[in-house]
Amino acid sequence: MLTSVLYHAYGLAGYDYIRTEYCGNTINFHVRPRKKLIRCPACLGRSVILRGSSIRRLRGLPLGIKSTWLHVHVPRIQCLQCGSVRRVSLKIASPRCSYTHAFARYVVSLAQAMTLIDVARLLGIGWDLVKSIFKQYLHHHYSSPSLAGLEYIAIDEKYTGRKHGFITLVIDLGSARVVYVGAGKQAEALDGFWKRLGRRKSSIKAVAADMSPAYRSAVLEHLPSAALVFDRFHVVKLMNERLTDIRRELYHELTSQHDKSILKGTRWMLLKNPQSIGEQTSDHERLELALQANRPLAVAYYMKEDLRQIWQQTDKVTATVFLDDWINRAQASAIKGLKKMAKTLEKHREGILNWYDHPISTGPLEGINNKIDTLKRQAYGYRDMEFFELRIKALHNSKYALTG
Ligand SMILES: [Zn+2]
Repeated sequence: MLTSVLYHAYGLAGYDYIRTEYCGNTINFHVRPRKKLIRCPACLGRSVILRGSSIRRLRGLPLGIKSTWLHVHVPRIQCLQCGSVRRVSLKIASPRCSYTHAFARYVVSLAQAMTLIDVARLLGIGWDLVKSIFKQYLHHHYSSPSLAGLEYIAIDEKYTGRKHGFITLVIDLGSARVVYVGAGKQAEALDGFWKRLGRRKSSIKAVAADMSPAYRSAVLEHLPSAALVFDRFHVVKLMNERLTDIRRELYHELTSQHDKSILKGTRWMLLKNPQSIGEQTSDHERLELALQANRPLAVAYYMKEDLRQIWQQTDKVTATVFLDDWINRAQASAIKGLKKMAKTLEKHREGILNWYDHPISTGPLEGINNKIDTLKRQAYGYRDMEFFELRIKALHNSKYALTG
């Protein structure tokens, strides 16, 4: 009976059952390879003489809450064909591994659903063993993601904390896969990507990125035929920062306590979409009051709202007219922060308008960034940069929601 259980549940084909030992929370199954299937590991010849055996212990799939060990009685053979004297090799485990392939597959499927420390506790094994098994799996499947047929990509930086600092991520917008992770946020962070891309560079049609000069120059140099699309969310975010600067400067210029109190606490209202300020009339009134009392702030605020319209036009031609008009109005405003923004937009005009040819953004990276934060919170394994990188590359395939 046990031979068939071991065969069907444990995938032990070609083994004979010897005996079982129960020791506390552990079950030991003694098995040996079926004699007629024994071959010489060197030449695969069948004419072999058995020269004793030794036991190899392999961790197997748990049975309920009990852990199991396979005690495989591995024969030593002398081959009559090639003359070698060796231990028979086993198909159920890799050489020098202390667990079966089936056990490794089980660990991997658990690790995709829960934290590594949970897997270790559940299986009663060390956390480092879980990590080592999972890392081997990730390395095999995700160390060099396919770059064939890549057309639309997004590049963005991500701060991962003090240990590893900034990393640069490249994602394939078609499949939402992270295809590259580089250290740092300078142009050099992408060197490895260009190298791997090689001749496939020509298939890339457009790149979404922020307006950082580092990525910009790297893309222009390495993908001269691709369109660079400056991410709309980054443009809006930059405008919000300018508006915050303008408000802060105004606040410091004000002398009367009354004027200052009007501005106080209005920052978040200025940055929000007017629709999302909410039903509370007091918030609306406070915003109105602040805008009425400060003409430059009002101008900047409405210019910020207006800026979003760049991406609401019917086509590239009207968008171009709109953007140029915005830049002219900002320059004529005599408000320092607005003029600075106008300069930035003028410099990146083409890349902003490229959105009408390729409506892509770095938006899909937001979801990936959140998942990376969750990975980081799991703490264990984050110190190993290679492991961390592999986990990022495997994010799109995490079968279940990542647990916190
Ligand atoms: Zn042989």
